Amino acid sequence: MKYIVVTGGVVSGLGKGVTISSMGRMLQGCGLRVTSIKIDPYLNVDAGTMSPFEHGETYVLDDGGETDLDLGNYERFLSVSLTSEHNITTGKVYRNVIGKERRGDYLGRTVQVVPHITNEIQEWIERVAHVPVDDAGRRHWEAREVVEDGSDIIDDGGTAARPPFHPHGVVVGGGGGDDNVGVADVCLIEVGGTVGDIESSVFLEALRQFQFRVGPDNFCLTFVSLVPIMGEEQKTKPTQHGVRDLRSVGLSPAVIFCRCREVLEDGAKAKIASFCHVDGPGCVLSVHDVSNVYHVPLLLLEQKLHRILADKLKLHELPELARRL
Ligand code: ADP
Repeated sequence: MKYIVVTGGVVSGLGKGVTISSMGRMLQGCGLRVTSIKIDPYLNVDAGTMSPFEHGETYVLDDGGETDLDLGNYERFLSVSLTSEHNITTGKVYRNVIGKERRGDYLGRTVQVVPHITNEIQEWIERVAHVPVDDAGRRHWEAREVVEDGSDIIDDGGTAARPPFHPHGVVVGGGGGDDNVGVADVCLIEVGGTVGDIESSVFLEALRQFQFRVGPDNFCLTFVSLVPIMGEEQKTKPTQHGVRDLRSVGLSPAVIFCRCREVLEDGAKAKIASFCHVDGPGCVLSVHDVSNVYHVPLLLLEQKLHRILADKLKLHELPELARRL
C-alpha cells in the first residue's frame, strides 16, 4: 500500500480536497486502484451537528455517516463509496481511546497523546486504507471467506488462496487486475485545516511516525499552498513559511501545489524549489484557477505529476504500470 498525504498551509479552503481528488483520478487513469481518507482535526465526532452556514454542506455517505464535503469530492471524482470510518476526526479518535481506557485495555498504564492517540491514528489509517471502496473491490471482498487460521480465501472454487493484503509491501497491481481482492494500491490522505494549527499537530505527529512505519518508498507527503499576486508579482514567501512550519514538525513535502489566480511562473517555481527543499522546480506544480474543477486532473497530468509520484513511490518498478507511466 502506498500512502500519499496532502497537507495545506497559509489559508484554509485552498483546494486541498480538489487537488487530492484530482491526483487520485489521475492515478486511476494510470491503472491504479485508489482509496482516500479525510482527517478533520476538530473535536466534533462528525460534521452532522455543525452549522452548514459555518462549515458548508454536510455530505451523507451510503452508511449514513455525516461528513465534510471533501468526502463528496472523493466519491464523485474517484467513483468510490466511502464509509464513515474514512473520515477520522479528533472526536472519534479520543472517543475510541477513552473507550479502551474505560475497558482497561491499557492495563493500568498512563494514557497519553504520544503514544496512545498517535498509535490509534496510525492503526486507524492502516485499517481503513485496506477497506475496498470500488464496486469490483467490494464484490471480491464479499466473496472471500475467512478461514480458521485467520487467512482469507477467495471463493473461486477453492483454487486460489491469497492473503488479503500486504500492509507494507508493494501491492500495486496486487497480482493483476481482479486478483487483488479489491484492496486499493494507493491511499490518499487529506489533513484538514492548516499546518501550524494546534488542533492538527497530533495528526502531523502521527504522520511523522507513520512515514517510518510504512517506509520511505510507500509514503509521499505533499503540500498545498497559496501564491498571492501583488501588483504583477507572484509572491512565494507565504509558501516558504508554510513549508518551514511543516518541516519544523519533521515532515518534508516531496511535491508542492501552488494555488494561484494565474499560471505559476517559472521564476516563482524555481524560487519555491530552492527555498523549500524539493527535488527541483518540476516538483512545484501550478494549480491555478480553472473554470471547472474537473479540469484539475489534466492540469496535474500536463505537469507530469504521475512521473514524480512514480519515482518517489517506486511505481515504475511494476511492469504492468511502467507502460502507462
Ligand atoms: P479545502 O479542501 O482546502 O478546504 P476545497 O477542495 O474544498 O478546499 O476547495 C475550496 C474551493 O475552491 C471549492 O469551492 C473548490 O471548488 C475551489 N477550487 C479548488 N481548486 C480550484 C481550482 N484549481 N480552480 C478553481 N476553483 C478551485
